[in-house]
Amino acid sequence: AAVIVAIDGPAGTGKSSTSKAVAAKLGLGYLDTGAQYRAITWWMLTNGIDVNDARAVADAAAKPVIVSGTDPAAPTIAVDGLDAAGPIRTQEVTSAVSAVSAVPEVRARITALQRSIAAEAPRGIVVEGRDIGITVLPDADLKVFLTASAEARAARRSGELKGKEATDLAATREALMKRDAADSSRKTSPLAKADDAVEVDTTDLTLDQVIECVVTLIEG
Ligand code: C5P
Repeated sequence: AAVIVAIDGPAGTGKSSTSKAVAAKLGLGYLDTGAQYRAITWWMLTNGIDVNDARAVADAAAKPVIVSGTDPAAPTIAVDGLDAAGPIRTQEVTSAVSAVSAVPEVRARITALQRSIAAEAPRGIVVEGRDIGITVLPDADLKVFLTASAEARAARRSGELKGKEATDLAATREALMKRDAADSSRKTSPLAKADDAVEVDTTDLTLDQVIECVVTLIEG
């Protein structure tokens, strides 16, 4: 039977690296749900929608065609047939994504898309995000909630950004905290740990240790 794994947690906890590696090791698909929210946000920004106008965002929510490729070795994201992998990582999109993600019509649409992708994965899939264990896939075979100290998360994120965009640790940390606060306080499907999720604090673990831990949890 297909194996469904939900990996949730705030930014900078190693969700993407962990999920991709676990999926590759076990021959499962991989879905980055944050990339989907970033993709719809990018579409709003490039189509002149005011991302702080919830009504306008809701009215446009059904328009962009979002396609996710679920091969963990080469995940892809396209919007209206355009490769969105680069543009969704800009600071402009990162700053706007929490507002767009808070709109219920956006969540309903992206959640439906995520469920159909998970249902179609032949051997199963690792789905990473914020609300996967509670809202998107409440019947997942395994739910993991990754955490890490604010310092560790900011350090990892600024390491990822290095060279791409000018960034300093304090500013990265502040932006990260702001985004988590917004994601945790929205009314529809806030970032939260499911009661039946296994919490893994990655602060003092290497990526390999976190991967090993999740693989062990899956293989039971
Ligand atoms: O994972 P990533 O940091 O790329 O996610 C970007 C944003 O997408 C989050 O800050 C959050 O606002 C939104 N998101 C969400 N629900 C998910 C995944 C991401 O609301 N399942």
